[in-house]
Amino acid sequence: MRLETLAVHAGGEPDAETGAIAPPIHMATTFRHGPAGERQAGFEYVREGNPTQGRLETALAALEQGEAALAFGSGMAAMTALLESLPAGATVLIPTDCYTGLRVLAEEFLPRGGVRAIATDMADLAAVDTQLRAGAHAVWLETPSNPQLQLADIGAIAALARSAGALLFCDNTFATPALQRPLSLGADVVMHSTTKYFGGHSDVMGGALVFARGDALYERVAHRRHVTGGVLAPFNAWLTLRGLRSLPARMSWHCANARRIAEFLSGHARVAAVNYPGLTDHAGHAIACRQMADFGAMLSFRVAGGRDAALAAAGRLQLIHNATSLGGCETLIEHRASVEGTNPVSPQDLLRLSVGLEHADDLIADLDQALNG
Ligand SMILES: *Cc1c(COP(=O)(O)O)cnc(C)c1O
Repeated sequence: MRLETLAVHAGGEPDAETGAIAPPIHMATTFRHGPAGERQAGFEYVREGNPTQGRLETALAALEQGEAALAFGSGMAAMTALLESLPAGATVLIPTDCYTGLRVLAEEFLPRGGVRAIATDMADLAAVDTQLRAGAHAVWLETPSNPQLQLADIGAIAALARSAGALLFCDNTFATPALQRPLSLGADVVMHSTTKYFGGHSDVMGGALVFARGDALYERVAHRRHVTGGVLAPFNAWLTLRGLRSLPARMSWHCANARRIAEFLSGHARVAAVNYPGLTDHAGHAIACRQMADFGAMLSFRVAGGRDAALAAAGRLQLIHNATSLGGCETLIEHRASVEGTNPVSPQDLLRLSVGLEHADDLIADLDQALNG
Protein backbone atom coordinates (compact mmCIF):
# COMPACT_ATOMS: atom_id res chain seq x y z
CA MET A 1 0.00 0.00 0.00
CA ARG A 2 1.05 3.57 -0.65
CA LEU A 3 2.10 5.88 2.17
CA GLU A 4 -1.00 8.12 1.95
CA THR A 5 -3.25 5.06 2.39
CA LEU A 6 -1.16 3.61 5.21
CA ALA A 7 -1.27 6.94 7.03
CA VAL A 8 -5.06 6.91 6.96
CA HIS A 9 -5.55 3.24 7.88
CA ALA A 10 -2.56 1.77 9.77
CA GLY A 11 -3.48 0.91 13.35
CA GLY A 12 -7.04 2.02 12.60
CA GLU A 13 -9.10 -1.17 12.71
CA PRO A 14 -12.63 -0.28 13.89
CA ASP A 15 -13.18 -1.00 17.58
CA ALA A 16 -14.18 -4.69 17.93
CA GLU A 17 -16.69 -3.97 20.69
CA THR A 18 -18.61 -1.02 19.21
CA GLY A 19 -17.61 -0.69 15.55
CA ALA A 20 -16.39 2.86 16.25
CA ILE A 21 -14.30 4.14 13.34
CA ALA A 22 -12.22 6.45 15.53
CA PRO A 23 -10.20 4.34 17.99
CA PRO A 24 -11.14 4.36 21.67
CA ILE A 25 -8.78 5.99 24.17
CA HIS A 26 -7.96 3.34 26.73
CA MET A 27 -7.02 5.18 29.91
CA ALA A 28 -6.74 2.03 32.07
CA THR A 29 -3.50 1.76 34.02
CA THR A 30 -4.01 -1.94 34.71
CA PHE A 31 -5.51 -4.95 32.94
CA ARG A 32 -7.22 -7.97 34.52
CA HIS A 33 -5.30 -11.23 34.67
CA GLY A 34 -6.83 -14.51 33.49
CA PRO A 35 -7.65 -17.35 35.89
CA ALA A 36 -4.09 -18.69 35.79
CA GLY A 37 -2.57 -15.21 36.19
CA GLU A 38 -2.03 -14.92 32.44
CA ARG A 39 -2.56 -11.83 30.28
CA GLN A 40 -5.89 -11.82 28.47
CA ALA A 41 -5.17 -9.42 25.60
CA GLY A 42 -1.42 -8.97 25.94
CA PHE A 43 -1.58 -6.10 28.44
CA GLU A 44 -0.73 -5.94 32.12
CA TYR A 45 0.35 -2.47 33.32
CA VAL A 46 0.33 0.80 31.37
CA ARG A 47 4.06 1.52 31.81
CA GLU A 48 4.75 -1.52 29.68
CA GLY A 49 2.10 -0.85 27.03
CA ASN A 50 -1.56 -0.10 26.36
CA PRO A 51 -3.94 -0.59 23.41
CA THR A 52 -4.02 3.06 22.26
CA GLN A 53 -0.23 3.27 22.23
CA GLY A 54 -0.17 -0.10 20.45
CA ARG A 55 -2.24 1.34 17.61
CA LEU A 56 0.14 4.28 17.29
CA GLU A 57 3.15 1.95 17.24
CA THR A 58 1.54 -0.16 14.51
CA ALA A 59 1.05 2.98 12.41
CA LEU A 60 4.59 4.29 13.05
CA ALA A 61 6.14 0.96 12.04
CA ALA A 62 4.01 0.87 8.86
CA LEU A 63 4.94 4.42 7.82
CA GLU A 64 8.67 3.92 8.38
CA GLN A 65 8.65 0.36 6.98
CA GLY A 66 10.05 -1.11 10.19
CA GLU A 67 9.26 -4.36 11.99
CA ALA A 68 8.59 -2.73 15.35
CA ALA A 69 8.10 0.67 16.95
CA LEU A 70 8.20 2.11 20.46
CA ALA A 71 6.40 5.32 21.46
CA PHE A 72 7.85 7.57 24.18
CA GLY A 73 6.74 10.60 26.18
CA SER A 74 9.02 12.91 24.14
CA GLY A 75 11.58 12.84 21.36
CA MET A 76 14.32 13.23 23.96
CA ALA A 77 13.00 10.22 25.92
CA ALA A 78 13.17 8.16 22.72
CA MET A 79 16.67 9.36 21.85
CA THR A 80 17.93 8.78 25.40
CA ALA A 81 16.47 5.27 25.65
CA LEU A 82 18.22 4.29 22.42
CA LEU A 83 21.60 5.87 23.10
CA GLU A 84 21.71 4.65 26.70
CA SER A 85 21.13 1.13 25.42
CA LEU A 86 24.58 1.17 23.83
CA PRO A 87 27.11 -0.89 25.81
CA ALA A 88 29.48 0.85 28.24
CA GLY A 89 32.65 1.79 26.38
CA ALA A 90 30.81 2.41 23.10
CA THR A 91 31.49 5.39 20.87
CA VAL A 92 28.74 7.06 18.83
CA LEU A 93 29.38 9.55 16.04
CA ILE A 94 27.01 12.54 16.07
CA PRO A 95 26.69 15.33 13.47
CA THR A 96 28.47 18.65 14.04
CA ASP A 97 25.16 20.43 13.35
CA CYS A 98 22.36 18.77 15.32
CA TYR A 99 19.47 19.31 17.69
CA THR A 100 20.71 21.01 20.88
CA GLY A 101 19.18 18.30 23.09
CA LEU A 102 21.40 15.66 21.48
CA ARG A 103 24.50 17.76 22.07
CA VAL A 104 23.63 18.28 25.75
CA LEU A 105 22.76 14.59 26.22
CA ALA A 106 26.09 13.64 24.65
CA GLU A 107 28.07 16.04 26.84
CA GLU A 108 26.33 15.73 30.20
CA PHE A 109 24.63 12.34 30.42
CA LEU A 110 25.94 9.69 28.02
CA PRO A 111 29.45 9.67 29.55
CA ARG A 112 27.92 8.52 32.88
CA GLY A 113 26.89 5.29 31.16
CA GLY A 114 30.32 4.97 29.54
CA VAL A 115 29.12 6.12 26.08
CA ARG A 116 31.28 8.67 24.29
CA ALA A 117 30.02 10.87 21.45
CA ILE A 118 32.31 12.28 18.76
CA ALA A 119 31.06 15.21 16.68
CA THR A 120 31.73 14.35 13.04
CA ASP A 121 31.16 16.16 9.74
CA MET A 122 28.74 13.69 8.15
CA ALA A 123 29.27 15.23 4.70
CA ASP A 124 32.88 14.01 4.89
CA LEU A 125 32.51 10.27 4.21
CA ALA A 126 36.26 9.66 4.63
CA ALA A 127 36.11 11.15 8.16
CA VAL A 128 33.09 8.96 9.02
CA ASP A 129 34.89 5.89 7.66
CA THR A 130 38.04 6.66 9.67
CA GLN A 131 36.04 6.90 12.91
CA LEU A 132 34.18 3.67 12.09
CA ARG A 133 37.42 1.83 11.45
CA ALA A 134 38.73 3.17 14.75
CA GLY A 135 35.90 1.21 16.41
CA ALA A 136 32.83 3.49 16.61
CA HIS A 137 29.86 1.40 17.66
CA ALA A 138 27.11 3.52 16.08
CA VAL A 139 26.44 6.56 13.88
CA TRP A 140 23.65 9.05 14.65
CA LEU A 141 22.41 11.03 11.65
CA GLU A 142 20.07 13.98 11.55
CA THR A 143 19.26 14.85 7.96
CA PRO A 144 18.30 17.54 7.17
CA SER A 145 19.92 18.85 10.36
CA ASN A 146 18.54 21.30 12.87
CA PRO A 147 19.01 24.24 12.41
CA GLN A 148 21.47 24.52 9.50
CA LEU A 149 19.74 22.05 7.15
CA GLN A 150 22.87 20.07 6.40
CA LEU A 151 22.40 16.82 4.49
CA ALA A 152 23.97 13.42 5.13
CA ASP A 153 23.96 10.60 2.58
CA ILE A 154 22.05 7.89 4.48
CA GLY A 155 22.73 5.08 1.99
CA ALA A 156 26.47 5.78 1.76
CA ILE A 157 26.88 6.01 5.54
CA ALA A 158 24.74 2.87 6.03
CA ALA A 159 27.15 0.98 3.76
CA LEU A 160 30.19 2.24 5.71
CA ALA A 161 28.52 1.38 9.05
CA ARG A 162 27.54 -2.10 7.87
CA SER A 163 31.02 -2.96 6.66
CA ALA A 164 32.42 -1.83 10.03
CA GLY A 165 29.78 -3.78 12.01
CA ALA A 166 28.30 -0.54 13.42
CA LEU A 167 24.67 0.51 13.84
CA LEU A 168 23.06 3.44 12.03
CA PHE A 169 20.46 5.59 13.80
CA CYS A 170 18.62 8.41 12.03
CA ASP A 171 16.62 11.31 13.47
CA ASN A 172 13.95 11.70 10.78
CA THR A 173 11.98 14.48 12.50
CA PHE A 174 12.51 17.14 9.80
CA ALA A 175 11.83 14.95 6.77
CA THR A 176 9.16 12.56 8.17
CA PRO A 177 8.46 9.26 6.38
CA ALA A 178 6.37 11.23 3.88
CA LEU A 179 9.66 12.47 2.37
CA GLN A 180 12.38 10.06 3.50
CA ARG A 181 12.50 6.43 4.69
CA PRO A 182 15.91 5.86 6.33
CA LEU A 183 15.25 2.16 7.06
CA SER A 184 14.83 1.52 3.33
CA LEU A 185 18.24 3.17 2.82
CA GLY A 186 19.94 0.87 5.34
CA ALA A 187 19.47 2.55 8.74
CA ASP A 188 18.81 0.28 11.73
CA VAL A 189 16.63 2.59 13.83
CA VAL A 190 14.69 5.77 13.03
CA MET A 191 13.93 8.30 15.76
CA HIS A 192 11.19 10.95 15.76
CA SER A 193 10.09 13.83 17.85
CA THR A 194 6.39 13.20 17.12
CA THR A 195 5.80 16.55 18.87
CA LYS A 196 6.55 18.05 15.46
CA TYR A 197 5.01 16.87 12.14
CA PHE A 198 3.30 13.67 13.36
CA GLY A 199 1.23 15.53 15.96
CA GLY A 200 1.17 18.39 13.49
CA HIS A 201 -0.87 20.86 15.55
CA SER A 202 1.56 22.10 18.24
CA ASP A 203 -0.53 20.49 20.96
CA VAL A 204 0.95 17.09 21.85
CA MET A 205 4.41 15.96 22.92
CA GLY A 206 5.79 12.54 22.02
CA GLY A 207 8.70 10.60 20.60
CA ALA A 208 9.23 7.35 18.76
CA LEU A 209 11.76 4.79 17.66
CA VAL A 210 11.13 2.54 14.67
CA PHE A 211 13.33 -0.53 14.33
CA ALA A 212 14.25 -2.22 11.06
CA ARG A 213 14.12 -5.54 12.94
CA GLY A 214 12.26 -6.69 16.03
CA ASP A 215 15.57 -8.08 17.32
CA ALA A 216 17.62 -8.02 20.52
CA LEU A 217 18.22 -4.26 20.24
CA TYR A 218 14.47 -3.64 20.07
CA GLU A 219 13.92 -5.92 23.08
CA ARG A 220 16.64 -4.12 25.04
CA VAL A 221 15.16 -0.68 24.38
CA ALA A 222 11.60 -1.89 25.11
CA HIS A 223 12.85 -3.29 28.43
CA ARG A 224 14.58 0.02 29.18
CA ARG A 225 11.38 1.98 28.47
CA HIS A 226 9.39 -0.37 30.71
CA VAL A 227 11.84 0.01 33.58
CA THR A 228 12.85 3.68 33.28
CA GLY A 229 9.32 4.80 32.38
CA GLY A 230 9.67 7.41 29.62
CA VAL A 231 6.25 6.38 28.31
CA LEU A 232 3.60 8.20 26.31
CA ALA A 233 0.22 8.88 27.95
CA PRO A 234 -2.73 7.12 26.20
CA PHE A 235 -4.41 10.43 25.36
CA ASN A 236 -1.19 11.72 23.78
CA ALA A 237 -0.88 8.48 21.79
CA TRP A 238 -4.43 9.07 20.52
CA LEU A 239 -3.74 12.70 19.53
CA THR A 240 -0.55 11.66 17.72
CA LEU A 241 -2.41 8.92 15.85
CA ARG A 242 -5.08 11.46 14.89
CA GLY A 243 -2.36 13.82 13.65
CA LEU A 244 -0.52 11.29 11.52
CA ARG A 245 -3.63 10.43 9.50
CA SER A 246 -3.07 13.65 7.54
CA LEU A 247 0.76 13.64 7.59
CA PRO A 248 1.38 12.99 3.86
CA ALA A 249 -1.31 15.50 2.84
CA ARG A 250 0.05 18.18 5.17
CA MET A 251 3.65 17.56 4.08
CA SER A 252 2.91 18.24 0.44
CA TRP A 253 1.33 21.63 1.27
CA HIS A 254 4.12 22.41 3.78
CA CYS A 255 6.76 21.66 1.11
CA ALA A 256 5.06 23.71 -1.62
CA ASN A 257 4.92 26.72 0.74
CA ALA A 258 8.54 26.27 1.82
CA ARG A 259 9.78 26.13 -1.77
CA ARG A 260 8.13 29.46 -2.55
CA ILE A 261 9.46 31.08 0.61
CA ALA A 262 13.01 29.78 0.03
CA GLU A 263 12.94 31.30 -3.46
CA PHE A 264 11.57 34.58 -2.17
CA LEU A 265 14.21 34.80 0.59
CA SER A 266 17.07 33.94 -1.77
CA GLY A 267 16.18 36.93 -3.90
CA HIS A 268 15.80 39.36 -0.97
CA ALA A 269 18.41 42.10 -0.53
CA ARG A 270 18.35 41.87 3.29
CA VAL A 271 19.03 38.10 3.29
CA ALA A 272 22.67 37.01 3.21
CA ALA A 273 22.12 33.26 2.77
CA VAL A 274 19.32 30.69 2.72
CA ASN A 275 19.74 27.10 3.93
CA TYR A 276 17.15 25.00 2.11
CA PRO A 277 18.00 21.67 0.45
CA GLY A 278 15.59 22.41 -2.40
CA LEU A 279 17.78 25.26 -3.67
CA THR A 280 20.13 24.09 -6.42
CA ASP A 281 23.12 25.87 -4.80
CA HIS A 282 22.64 24.04 -1.47
CA ALA A 283 25.66 21.82 -0.67
CA GLY A 284 23.40 18.82 -0.09
CA HIS A 285 20.98 19.40 -2.98
CA ALA A 286 22.12 16.36 -4.99
CA ILE A 287 21.83 14.09 -1.94
CA ALA A 288 18.38 15.52 -1.17
CA CYS A 289 17.26 14.78 -4.75
CA ARG A 290 18.36 11.15 -4.32
CA GLN A 291 17.01 10.35 -0.88
CA MET A 292 14.05 12.69 -0.33
CA ALA A 293 10.71 12.80 -2.14
CA ASP A 294 10.55 16.57 -1.52
CA PHE A 295 12.73 19.07 0.34
CA GLY A 296 10.75 19.62 3.53
CA ALA A 297 9.34 22.72 5.15
CA MET A 298 12.19 23.69 7.49
CA LEU A 299 14.67 26.31 6.40
CA SER A 300 17.02 28.78 7.98
CA PHE A 301 18.45 32.04 6.70
CA ARG A 302 21.03 34.61 7.66
CA VAL A 303 19.96 38.22 7.88
CA ALA A 304 22.27 40.89 6.46
CA GLY A 305 23.37 43.13 9.36
CA GLY A 306 24.00 40.42 11.96
CA ARG A 307 22.35 39.52 15.27
CA ASP A 308 20.54 42.81 15.86
CA ALA A 309 19.08 42.91 12.37
CA ALA A 310 17.93 39.28 12.70
CA LEU A 311 16.25 39.88 16.05
CA ALA A 312 14.64 43.10 14.80
CA ALA A 313 13.23 41.38 11.70
CA ALA A 314 11.80 38.53 13.82
CA GLY A 315 10.26 41.13 16.13
CA ARG A 316 8.47 42.91 13.27
CA LEU A 317 6.60 39.83 12.03
CA GLN A 318 2.84 40.10 12.43
CA LEU A 319 1.47 36.76 11.24
CA ILE A 320 4.46 34.49 11.84
CA HIS A 321 4.99 33.73 15.54
CA ASN A 322 8.40 34.02 17.14
CA ALA A 323 8.42 30.73 19.06
CA THR A 324 10.38 27.53 19.38
CA SER A 325 9.37 24.12 17.96
CA LEU A 326 8.20 23.23 14.47
CA GLY A 327 5.93 21.10 12.35
CA GLY A 328 2.60 22.72 13.28
CA CYS A 329 -0.02 24.34 11.06
CA GLU A 330 1.19 27.81 12.01
CA THR A 331 4.47 29.22 10.68
CA LEU A 332 7.08 29.73 13.43
CA ILE A 333 10.36 31.62 13.39
CA GLU A 334 13.15 31.38 15.92
CA HIS A 335 16.53 32.90 16.66
CA ARG A 336 18.24 29.62 17.62
CA ALA A 337 21.33 31.19 19.20
CA SER A 338 19.06 32.81 21.82
CA VAL A 339 17.67 29.47 23.01
CA GLU A 340 20.88 27.43 22.97
CA GLY A 341 21.89 28.22 26.55
CA THR A 342 25.24 29.54 27.65
CA ASN A 343 27.29 28.26 24.70
CA PRO A 344 25.25 28.94 21.56
CA VAL A 345 26.65 27.29 18.45
CA SER A 346 24.24 28.64 15.80
CA PRO A 347 25.31 31.76 13.89
CA GLN A 348 24.01 34.95 15.56
CA ASP A 349 22.42 36.22 12.32
CA LEU A 350 20.51 32.95 11.73
CA LEU A 351 16.73 32.63 11.89
CA ARG A 352 15.03 29.24 11.58
CA LEU A 353 11.64 29.02 9.94
CA SER A 354 9.08 26.23 10.25
CA VAL A 355 6.83 26.89 7.27
CA GLY A 356 3.19 26.19 8.09
CA LEU A 357 -0.02 25.70 6.20
CA GLU A 358 -1.11 29.31 5.65
CA HIS A 359 -1.20 30.72 2.10
CA ALA A 360 2.36 31.37 0.85
CA ASP A 361 1.42 34.88 -0.37
CA ASP A 362 0.48 35.94 3.16
CA LEU A 363 3.68 34.50 4.61
CA ILE A 364 5.82 36.18 1.96
CA ALA A 365 4.12 39.54 2.53
CA ASP A 366 4.80 39.27 6.28
CA LEU A 367 8.47 38.30 5.78
CA ASP A 368 8.91 41.11 3.26
CA GLN A 369 7.60 43.84 5.56
CA ALA A 370 9.62 42.48 8.49
CA LEU A 371 12.89 42.31 6.52
CA ASN A 372 12.40 45.74 4.93
CA GLY A 373 11.73 47.21 8.39
C1 LIG B 1 12.35 18.65 18.75
C2 LIG B 1 13.42 17.76 18.27
C3 LIG B 1 13.92 16.74 19.08
C4 LIG B 1 13.46 16.54 20.52
O1 LIG B 1 12.14 16.14 20.60
P1 LIG B 1 11.15 16.53 21.83
O2 LIG B 1 9.86 15.92 21.42
O3 LIG B 1 11.13 18.02 21.94
O4 LIG B 1 11.73 15.91 23.07
C5 LIG B 1 14.88 15.90 18.54
N1 LIG B 1 15.34 16.06 17.28
C6 LIG B 1 14.89 17.04 16.48
C7 LIG B 1 15.43 17.16 15.09
C8 LIG B 1 13.92 17.93 16.94
O5 LIG B 1 13.48 18.91 16.13
